[in-house]
Amino acid sequence: MSRVALSRVRRVVVKVGSALITVPGQGPAGPVIARLAADMAALVKDRREMALVSSGAIATGMARLGLSTRPRSIPDKQAAAAVGQSTLMWHYEQGFGKHGIQVGQVLLTGQDISDRGRYLNARNTLLALLRFGVLPVVNENDTVAVDEIKVGDNDNLAAHVAHLIDADLLVLLTDVDGLYTGDPRRDPAARRLETVDAITDDILQLVFDDASRVSVGGMSTKLQAAQKATASGIPMVIARGSEPSVLQRIVSGENLGTYFEPRADPLTARKLWIAFAVPPQGRLRVDAGARKALTERGKSLLPSGLTDVEGEFRAGAVVSLAEGGQEFARGLVNYDAQEIRRIRGAKTREIEKALGYKGFDEVIHRDNLVVL
Ligand code: GLU
Repeated sequence: MSRVALSRVRRVVVKVGSALITVPGQGPAGPVIARLAADMAALVKDRREMALVSSGAIATGMARLGLSTRPRSIPDKQAAAAVGQSTLMWHYEQGFGKHGIQVGQVLLTGQDISDRGRYLNARNTLLALLRFGVLPVVNENDTVAVDEIKVGDNDNLAAHVAHLIDADLLVLLTDVDGLYTGDPRRDPAARRLETVDAITDDILQLVFDDASRVSVGGMSTKLQAAQKATASGIPMVIARGSEPSVLQRIVSGENLGTYFEPRADPLTARKLWIAFAVPPQGRLRVDAGARKALTERGKSLLPSGLTDVEGEFRAGAVVSLAEGGQEFARGLVNYDAQEIRRIRGAKTREIEKALGYKGFDEVIHRDNLVVL
């Protein structure tokens, strides 16, 4: 796929950040929302299905409650989100209403992504909204989400929403016009990357913390979103939201922002879930030989390559795999942490003796393993 093929996309998820759509101390920026609504409405008229992931609830709530700094305590933040979210929705109702488009509010937490039943529920609701011709406006449910159950930032949330509705494109609109080879505010030689074919370590190094005060993410959460989207075959674009008709121009294939090429061999829904939907509950350390066997030869993880087990988890949990301190894969384990400690380093024929019963040969079967 290349940018040119973007003219064929039917279902698009757009994410807007707090810095783009709110004015500090004032709340939602009316003219910005009006332009965004007009741009999205033009694509709806062109028979595309659009969903919006919008930040800005906390920033808006702060303005309405007269708070000049971001609240520190969780209840205060959640109170600000409660006040801000309804104000934000009022602006979207007005903005999209002018174009005859109805909006529907969908508030999600990390649990709605990691729990299969809730995931399918959210998916069904979003798809029903699209069928009714309603434009879903999604945010994290900040009034109930605490760290343990949070997605945490709307870049990653937008990538999950793109998975939920099988989107054809994810666009993150922000206040910079893409990913740069250096910090454009300090380095005059820094240039915008037009296309990123694969999110390599070199690309991940290009994160300078540009997180402005009102936003949660920065370039790092945007690259995480790009990993999630492209792994499932969904292209992603990061672009400057203040660019006129930015969405229509991106969809027409114009060279705006940074385009992330989707993976040619997308992960299956099951592997996506293992890789991204569930926070890992433990960590297995392996030696270099095992890493090679898993990443280059597509093998299963056997006890013999294991050097250490961290955390407590049950069979069936998702764990992270690391070698030399670096995570390189995730997988579903066949054994509890306690059992893995007993068979760590053992040869296959020694498993039965170590456990006192015959279990699986593999600690993680290759079908349940995703190399990141
Ligand atoms: N959910 C937060 C809000 O609406 C923003 C999270 C983010 O910007 O990533 O205020």
